[in-house]
Amino acid sequence: MSIDSIQDLEVVNSFAQLPPAFYTRLATTPLRRPRLLHANASVAGLLGLSPRALAGQDFLDVCAGSVPLRGGQTLSAVYSGHQFGVWAGQLGDGRAHLLGEVITPQGPMEIQLKGSGRTPYSRMGDGRAVVRSSVREYLASEAMAGLGIPTTRALAIVVGDDPVYRETEERAAVVARVSPSFIRFGSFEHWGGSPQNLRILLDYVIDRFYPECRVQDNPGESALRFLRQVVARSARLVADWQTVGFCHGVMNTDNMSILGLTMDYGPYGFMDGFQINHVCNHTDAQGRYAWNAQPSVVNWNLYRLASCLTVLDIEADALRAELQHYEDDFLAAYRGNLVRKFGWLQWREGDDMLVDDWWRLLHNQQADFTLGFRRLAQALSDPEPWLDLFSDRAAAQAWLAAYAQRLTLENRPDAERIAAMQSANPLYVLRNHLAEQAIQAAHREDSGEIETLLKLLRDPYVEQPGYEDYAQPAPEWACRLEVSCSS
Ligand code: AMP
Ligand code: MG
Repeated sequence: MSIDSIQDLEVVNSFAQLPPAFYTRLATTPLRRPRLLHANASVAGLLGLSPRALAGQDFLDVCAGSVPLRGGQTLSAVYSGHQFGVWAGQLGDGRAHLLGEVITPQGPMEIQLKGSGRTPYSRMGDGRAVVRSSVREYLASEAMAGLGIPTTRALAIVVGDDPVYRETEERAAVVARVSPSFIRFGSFEHWGGSPQNLRILLDYVIDRFYPECRVQDNPGESALRFLRQVVARSARLVADWQTVGFCHGVMNTDNMSILGLTMDYGPYGFMDGFQINHVCNHTDAQGRYAWNAQPSVVNWNLYRLASCLTVLDIEADALRAELQHYEDDFLAAYRGNLVRKFGWLQWREGDDMLVDDWWRLLHNQQADFTLGFRRLAQALSDPEPWLDLFSDRAAAQAWLAAYAQRLTLENRPDAERIAAMQSANPLYVLRNHLAEQAIQAAHREDSGEIETLLKLLRDPYVEQPGYEDYAQPAPEWACRLEVSCSS
């Protein structure tokens, strides 16, 4: 049964049951003259809301931060973290408010506003988010979900009149995000000096999200099993990122979900032309979060998470043993993804070399990541569209011959292989220039581009007639687009 007003949802807030040290209860700061730019019917559906609920004043009031969610307890959570490899101490929801949680058939779903005003954790920040970054987060969450990659979701985006000062003056917006939880590695690191609170947080997370890890009367073993699962989920996540050419941009430990979800979309990028050390965030001068560094960064972040668990009297060696599964977990997930993307049936000896050559081929010519995979499906019968992606056609042809040879090891019928590859290699991804067009339109309060992109990205493997432009490599002007941490 779907509900026609967001205020009629049954809302609780289990996070608010934690001791007060974990958060601050406070009110949001409403946007000035809020307007709903877009609402996401599929996420609303997850919460049990009808499409009609999205048109109601109640919905706008809640998503703009003007009225609290009935039954919820608005709060901002504290956390800490390592930023760019350095301990940053206390951070926290500096511009986000958890409104409450809805119990759904898929489990609890929290509703959180981002850009909803200052909090005790704002430090020098203004508590706001700009339209640009809010549209980017809104689109990217749904693009990830469409790709089948674990992510927080986006329910709505509201724009206001409030000026926000970044490099230039911009307008404020709020994104209503939805996730089972927004707890981060940094939420654990925050209690690295306080075993009692760390234990409380760990119990909360295990009970709610990792109940299978609970070993009766053995908290140490429970913690180890929990860590093992976080290792597995984080490895799977980054393997998924790698194989769609996604760069997160700011993989600080405070942006790492304890549930293995993609979260805190900022200066992320889906690569156009492949560059192995591509850095999407212009603020990341050292390239710490380059594409090829992401898997080892996740490993590093897992070490930070594990190291705070040592205060619970868990042997460092036991923790290390769980962490040691990371590489195998990552490789299994990464290879599994590649097997599907290349239309194989299993990973075979020698595939490492062919895949290395593949990355080298793409990198040397900065060939389009997404189309390089997508068009490969038909490259044996109709090579031209695929070869067009490469400037050095001879090199591409040589690799294609090796790939064709590899296919002969498995007698998979061509039609079956092609269909499998098309369901593993998206045609549409959220390219920077597409997001940019949606942002320009959003500044005119035209959500048409958002609507179009959501339609394509929700089903990114299926070709939609009439949308050829959305499946093209980036145009020249897009190469000059820059994204930074400023949001
Ligand atoms: P991020 O790298 O965007 O995930 O943010 C790092 C920290 O800065 C978090 O604690 C954020 O809540 C905080 N923060 C970022 N932007 C703002 C802002 N405009 N106002 C207040 N806090 C912010
Ligand atoms: Mg963050």
